[in-house]
Amino acid sequence: MNIFIMGAPGSGKGTFSSRIKEEFNLNHISTGDIFRENIANETELGLQAKSYTEKGLLVPDEITNNMVKEYLSHLADKKNGYLLDGYPRTLDQAKAFEEMTKGTDLAVEKIVVMDVPFDELTRRITGRRLCKKCGAIFNIYSKPPKTEGVCDECGSALTQRKDDNEESLKVRLDEYAKNTEPVIAYYEEKGMVSRIDASKAIDAIWPELKETLKNK
Ligand code: ADP
Ligand code: ZN
Repeated sequence: MNIFIMGAPGSGKGTFSSRIKEEFNLNHISTGDIFRENIANETELGLQAKSYTEKGLLVPDEITNNMVKEYLSHLADKKNGYLLDGYPRTLDQAKAFEEMTKGTDLAVEKIVVMDVPFDELTRRITGRRLCKKCGAIFNIYSKPPKTEGVCDECGSALTQRKDDNEESLKVRLDEYAKNTEPVIAYYEEKGMVSRIDASKAIDAIWPELKETLKNK
């Protein structure tokens, strides 16, 4: 199964990606995670991406497309398909991806869109805290860790993403409205999109999301 998961910043893409990946045994590719990893390791790609991601701007299509192409060619288990998280985010990326996967079994089959009202997104993003060690995600308002600043799962210190501040968030939401909503409309016209009401609690969303992926 080949899936795109789409949604505004704070819509729960990261949280649900890890559940989907486990449930359906998929290769998970998160372009945001790849950029953050490369920035942390100060690679060439990281240097190219850094000035954009910190401000909340999209990284130029050419850089992003090449990176995705590279990852696709190294999928651990091609037969199981993928969950692509954070890509495509522009119409040019969507077209480039179609080009890359044409005539292969890597063409996208399902697109889930996590829908959350814009005012709820701000609370989620500014309250978000992450464990770098084990990947657990907390929120100081809605899902606080038992001890402030410490991961419940592994005891490591929690961190905040550099772009999880109000200023960068505004830019990210603008980018989403301007560039990514047209991508959703493009796939909606092809009848490939399932919209999930992601404003509810995580445990209320998950059964619906799972069923949607199984049935469609
Ligand atoms: P968000 O939480 O805002 O949805 P991600 O973690 O998916 O963000 O991505 C973080 C940042 O990485 C983006 O704001 C952008 O700068 C960059 N990025 C991720 N995916 C893409 C993409 N497909 N095209 C361009 N830039 C991207
Ligand atoms: Zn942890």
